Amino acid sequence: MKIDHLIGGKPVAGTDYFETFNPATQEVLAEVASGGEAEVHAAVAAAKEAFPKWAGTPAPERARLIRRLGDLIAKNVPELSRTETDDCGQVIGQTGKQLVPRAADNFYYFAEMCTRVDGHTYPTPTHLNYTLFHPVGVCALISPWNVPFMTATWKVAPCLAFGNTAVLKMSELSPLTAARLGDLALEAGIPPGVLNLVHGYGKEAGEPLVAHPDVRAISFTGSTATGNRIVQRAGLKKFSMELGGKSPFVVFDDADLERALDAAVFMIFSNNGERCTAGSRILVQQNIYAGFAAKFAERAKRIVVGDPLDEKTIVGPMISQAHLAKVRSYIELGPKEGATLLCGGLEVPPLPERVRKGNYVAPTVFADVDNRMKIAQDEIFGPVACLIPFKDEADAIRLANDIPYGLSSYVWTENIGKAHRVAAAVEAGMCFVNSQNVRDLRQPFGGTKASGTGREGGTWSYEVFCEPKNVAVSL
Ligand code: NAD
Repeated sequence: MKIDHLIGGKPVAGTDYFETFNPATQEVLAEVASGGEAEVHAAVAAAKEAFPKWAGTPAPERARLIRRLGDLIAKNVPELSRTETDDCGQVIGQTGKQLVPRAADNFYYFAEMCTRVDGHTYPTPTHLNYTLFHPVGVCALISPWNVPFMTATWKVAPCLAFGNTAVLKMSELSPLTAARLGDLALEAGIPPGVLNLVHGYGKEAGEPLVAHPDVRAISFTGSTATGNRIVQRAGLKKFSMELGGKSPFVVFDDADLERALDAAVFMIFSNNGERCTAGSRILVQQNIYAGFAAKFAERAKRIVVGDPLDEKTIVGPMISQAHLAKVRSYIELGPKEGATLLCGGLEVPPLPERVRKGNYVAPTVFADVDNRMKIAQDEIFGPVACLIPFKDEADAIRLANDIPYGLSSYVWTENIGKAHRVAAAVEAGMCFVNSQNVRDLRQPFGGTKASGTGREGGTWSYEVFCEPKNVAVSL
């Protein structure tokens, strides 16, 4: 199979192609066009040309087409989730039941929202000020390989709904479902040029895109290192930067421990541990630490690792051999730094025949972790949990914040005052109290410190996808 760019509504062949692999089997899934400056220029030009008409299309009409795209995704969940699972190794139980259906919801949500964009008024005795929200223009949307379809639609839906046009660049490791998104957008009746896709590598395709003078806004999800590079290359543009994380999952001794254990296991092992909001530093109060660690490891040992196409599988393969090597290097490092391996490790559990060559790692739990160890400070981005003891509330807050990242956080306690105090003190864009990460499309999603800047979701998406203008009328 060959996957081309989509520029101005037409497939455009690459001058070069790269292969995308199934990480469970190492089979080649497709040859994908590898874009560079020329394709980026053509795609931005197509988006620029399509912009005035699309921006001028009444919101209810844009909403109708965007809803239709949501319907087409909903209709094609089995095909899209299978492609997503094959391309990135995320288990079918997640792609089919949650991630791809949520992609359809993204379009439904922003279709509705774009018909309700209102303004603000600031009346004074001498002037009436009011605010208009204009579309920004051509937006560069750049997506990582983890949860690729959901992430891409989380960007494309508000971008298009608010009247912008887009050039989408997916990760070179997981481009397939987004390629289908381009086709489905055309099938839904979204005009050619409104959504363009350039495939390729970060340096060759991503950099010319973010640096392009006709690109007005960048919505980027990916690593902190790439985010930093983009900010330097892009110049003066609107940004939303959704970057890496190493989120604290804080369990106090008065927590509902059974629920906390379930949530802790879910937040580090679901999505193969390849999750930006993973609760990868599990801080547990000293007096319950040993019991919690034993039960946590017991649950981790029961996790089914295997074929991502099997509904029972919880942990599938890592996205690539390079990423597998990175995750394994941290599993090797843990004991050298003084951590105790409670389960998992370098040995891969027995696998079904079909996936025996896959990029697998066992769910791994380290106890006796010091927050200054590298396994606690670096984003491993795999199914590797670090259990860190703490003394009291002040110690928990200190440890939670002793990290360059600030994406998500989790606090477990039955003491309402403590819950609110810790939620306020933790340096993170999001805090979940007695809960795993539950996404509400209205909430501001994003991080602080090295986890990024800007928020998306609900009206927070105006920040990157709308240009507010104040009009002051003398009375
Ligand atoms: P990455 O930074 O390597 O790549 C992300 C995207 O950027 C890819 O499409 C890549 O091709 C492109 N890219 C790479 N170099 C570029 C450059 N110089 N200019 C422009 N584009 C460039 O990240 P990844 O490994 O694909 O994804 C994993 C990372 O993403 C993790 O750090 C994870 O935490 C983060 N992430 C964050 C969130 C969030 O919402 N905060 C969500 C998912 C993933």
